[in-house]
Amino acid sequence: MAVKVDKATCTGCGACETACPVEAIKVVNEKAEVNEDTCIDCGVCVDECPVQALSL
Ligand code: SF4
Ligand code: SF4
Repeated sequence: MAVKVDKATCTGCGACETACPVEAIKVVNEKAEVNEDTCIDCGVCVDECPVQALSL
C-alpha cells in the first residue's frame, strides 16, 4: 500500500512533501510522487493537501 496521487488534480504545491514524516512524497515536475517502499500509510499528507489530490 501507499498513498495515491491524482496527478490531474495535484498543483505541485509541496504541502505533502513538507508534511510527510518519513520523506516518502516529493514533488517532481510539479506533481507529487510517492515512494511506495517508504510510505507508511499514515495519512498525514492526505489531510494536508489543499485540493484533495491524495487518497489512501
Ligand atoms: S501517507 Fe504518510 S508516509 Fe505516506 S506519503 Fe503521506 S505522509 Fe508520507
Ligand atoms: S499537497 Fe496535494 S496539491 Fe500539493 S503537491 Fe501534494 S498532492 Fe499535490
